[in-house]
Amino acid sequence: MVIKLDVVVVIDIEATCWAGATPVGQEHEIIEIGICTLDIKTGERIDRESLLVKPTKSKVSQFCTELTGLTQQDVDNGLRFDRACSILRKKFKTKSRIWASYGDYDRKMFEKQCAAHGVAYPFNGTHINIKSLYAMLMGLEREISLSAVLSQLNIEFEGQPHRGIDDAWNEALILSHLIEKMRLPLAE
Ligand code: AMP
Ligand code: MG
Repeated sequence: MVIKLDVVVVIDIEATCWAGATPVGQEHEIIEIGICTLDIKTGERIDRESLLVKPTKSKVSQFCTELTGLTQQDVDNGLRFDRACSILRKKFKTKSRIWASYGDYDRKMFEKQCAAHGVAYPFNGTHINIKSLYAMLMGLEREISLSAVLSQLNIEFEGQPHRGIDDAWNEALILSHLIEKMRLPLAE
């Protein structure tokens, strides 16, 4: 398959979670797929979207609502997971584009949930881990948190932390900075 390099699809997911152990009979499930598309040539962020997904094997706990701002009622009106994956494929063309996330958590959650729900993985084999890319390019000894990167770059977080749509928006800006800084030296 030919990968198109028009945009990178930056994705940040939120999942059901608990303060302590996972309650018996429940499991972590995706409840929001935050999306921000980044124009590779111009470095501009283009579209941002939040796909809320209805969990089928878990409930949104009070702890999860406090972390993400999302309630059970919000996700009760959400999409089925297979429908959300279909939107990624059709609207965001994730089968033929590169996607990126901050860390490997989002990729692993997609792999796990697609397998568990018998849903086709909506991406191709490519994935950019912005967290490791940033650490490598900055010569850091280890990966650092999203908030630490933003403070290194002197960028204020825009929106609400731990909302997928806002996390993706800010993560896309970090990737944009990296692409902009690296492009000219490497192209010379
Ligand atoms: P994030 O993209 O940092 O908002 O995290 C993605 C998901 O990881 C959240 O929706 C939670 O399911 C889980 N998560 C993040 N931070 C915590 C935390 N402090 N305690 C428990 N789960 C967390
Ligand atoms: Mg998030």
